[in-house]
Amino acid sequence: MTQLPSTLDTGWSFDNSYARLPEFFYSRLGPTPVRAPKLVVLNGPLAASLGLSEQALRSAEGAAVLAGNRVPEGAEPLAQAYAGHQFGHFTMLGDGRALLLGEQMTPAGERFDIQLKGSGETPYSRRGDGRAALGPMLREYIISEAMHALGIPTTRSLAVTATGETILRETELPGAVLTRIAASHIRVGTFQYAAAGGTVQHLRTLADYTLQRHYPEAAEADNRYLALLREVIRRQASLIAKWQLVGFIHGVMNTDNMALSGETIDYGPCAFMDTYDPETVFSSIDTYGRYAYGNQPLIAGWNLARFAETLLPLLHDDEEQAVRLAQDAISEFSGLYQRHWLAGMRAKLGLHGEDSQDEALATDLLDLMQQHRADYTNTFRLLTLGRPEETAMSGTPEFAAWLERWHARLVGAQGAAEASRERMRSSNPAVIPRNHRVEEALSAAVEEGDLSVMERLLAALANPYAYAPEQDEYAAPPEPSSCPYRTFCGT
Ligand code: AMP
Ligand code: MG
Repeated sequence: MTQLPSTLDTGWSFDNSYARLPEFFYSRLGPTPVRAPKLVVLNGPLAASLGLSEQALRSAEGAAVLAGNRVPEGAEPLAQAYAGHQFGHFTMLGDGRALLLGEQMTPAGERFDIQLKGSGETPYSRRGDGRAALGPMLREYIISEAMHALGIPTTRSLAVTATGETILRETELPGAVLTRIAASHIRVGTFQYAAAGGTVQHLRTLADYTLQRHYPEAAEADNRYLALLREVIRRQASLIAKWQLVGFIHGVMNTDNMALSGETIDYGPCAFMDTYDPETVFSSIDTYGRYAYGNQPLIAGWNLARFAETLLPLLHDDEEQAVRLAQDAISEFSGLYQRHWLAGMRAKLGLHGEDSQDEALATDLLDLMQQHRADYTNTFRLLTLGRPEETAMSGTPEFAAWLERWHARLVGAQGAAEASRERMRSSNPAVIPRNHRVEEALSAAVEEGDLSVMERLLAALANPYAYAPEQDEYAAPPEPSSCPYRTFCGT
């Protein structure tokens, strides 16, 4: 690893608070250099908000940093240790193909992890090669940026840099490194690692660090570890409701892929649902549908219970009391989730105020969508546009009856109709990263070196609530196909 003073001022301003934690939590090492770094895509607005110069990042020196060939001044790279329940089975893990460079302090005074993903082997690589392929890294870039534009808390993507090397999967694929930005990479699995392999002091150190970094108000509470648990639960309840409301399926909600910051993390086999069906699964390895769309809230609750378990020694000296505190906190998750979801559904339907029948109005619509195999996003989009006759349910007496109920609920004070439409427009995306459009962009980029398809897609996804006519082409669902869409992990 070379650490040279740079000739261009990129604006790096690193702090390394994670590196000041006990060595138990990580292994220090640098990225493995690659043959020929070449920037494929750079997120200009994100760079600017981080206080980084786009011009410097676009230079050869910038690409060398983004590919891991040069460590920027002030960075103290490390691979984080963590554990996790993968499909229900507990395993020791860690950054097997990623490195935390450090924490960039932004001009606004915020702190963000700068992580290279695909940067080479680490002590946690197990049998993996530490590398990533260009297609999946571009996919993470597209989907994480789309999530951000949808208003959903998420890690973000600063850049994808081709390595000029090939990696071996089922076939040879071009390699790449993704530069990922996150509030932090502390996971439920980081706590599981501390609980399983560390001392209570390690656990306390991690909990205090997490409190300070993400929940400073909770750090003031009488029982700050209980406050931490409750805040994490609250953020996850809000996050998962947002996923459900846009039809996002994470695909691999293992406990190592749940961030304590409340951000969506680890875009592997994720995808957006087209046809509404709670049993939708895209991931090729999710044979039993553990992470199906309709299961996500339950799984989040399960993961949070695993988190709560790790905190037991900190919650109370008396074990029984600690368990009771944890159970009480966990039992709040489903109600919190349900409240967020219902508030979001009210917004999607343009409803003002609260009526006891609102939940039934929403779930009855979903039932009709499922029966008639309606497209999830487009149903809400067409209701927003006042074109219900174009939905898949149109012409059926059940849908006519539903529309009548909805209209009756919408009628209200003067000006309410306009306000409802506005509410719907800002809650129902017209554009989501549909699988067939993402695949089309990726194959142009990876197979033909043509980035223009992806750039157009990214531009459309950047304003999902614009309802601009030029975005219409991205609203079309895929042609019916005989083989279901499949996504892959660990690629
Ligand atoms: P994921 O399914 O992407 O959340 O990854 C699960 C675990 O496998 C993490 O510890 C990753 O760091 C590790 N991993 C995934 N791909 C590779 C790879 N190509 N080389 C080494 N480790 C990997
Ligand atoms: Mg992961």
